[in-house]
Amino acid sequence: MTNQNNFITSNKSSWCPGCSNFSIKAALVRTFSELNLEPHKIAMVFDIGCAGNSCILYNTYGFHGLHGRTIPVAVGAKMANKSLTVIGIAGDGGAYGEGLNHLSEASRSNYDITFIVSNNFLYSLTTGQASPTSEKGTKTKSTPEGVQKEGLNPLLIALSAGASFVARGYADEVKHLSEIFKEAIKHKGFSLIDVLQPCITLDKKNTREWYKNRIYMLDKNWPVKERNKAMVKVQEWGDRIPIGIFFKEEE
Ligand code: SF4
Repeated sequence: MTNQNNFITSNKSSWCPGCSNFSIKAALVRTFSELNLEPHKIAMVFDIGCAGNSCILYNTYGFHGLHGRTIPVAVGAKMANKSLTVIGIAGDGGAYGEGLNHLSEASRSNYDITFIVSNNFLYSLTTGQASPTSEKGTKTKSTPEGVQKEGLNPLLIALSAGASFVARGYADEVKHLSEIFKEAIKHKGFSLIDVLQPCITLDKKNTREWYKNRIYMLDKNWPVKERNKAMVKVQEWGDRIPIGIFFKEEE
């Protein structure tokens, strides 16, 4: 097991104290260590946003790119050097708004990268505007009368575009999240991990308390090779919210 300290810098984070992005970082560092990876064999590509601001926290190769363009840069890195483990980090705005076309193309083409999305249903870095995943009715400064449409389901989009690895995690379930990351990195092909990430500063609805009694883990016997079942399961939302690997199949 590689020392976890090898993967982190001494830089200070710009995140709000207690932000659940810290948990995602902890899960990822744990994953790198348990997979015995080495920092110089990892390339990370970061979107703009709170999640992307973790670019200064990882002691790996890193590229902080344009908003919504995490996937093409990550694919380019992988094509240039196939021996690298390539990770994309983005928020729901960049991943599912500006970058949605890249998500569907990467899902279809099955590029061998891991894409991790901190999904908090808001553009948080710009202080809380509605994002593509904001639920219908959500009032924000950009939608004072509430969002008019249902939020999109990124997992359903990825599955219907042919993605070969689709999962959802919860930021504060660090061990479980790390297990998903491990499988995603080992997977030969494109992997999407949508991570439910409570924004403790701006989101008064999807709070840790709200998630507490709703989150549940998929059964260990869940049939991960059945795409149609996954497409139904990823739509379960409300009183019960499943997390885990919904679909995985190497092509
Ligand atoms: Fe985290 Fe929200 Fe603060 Fe951004 S605004 S650092 S997502 S708590």
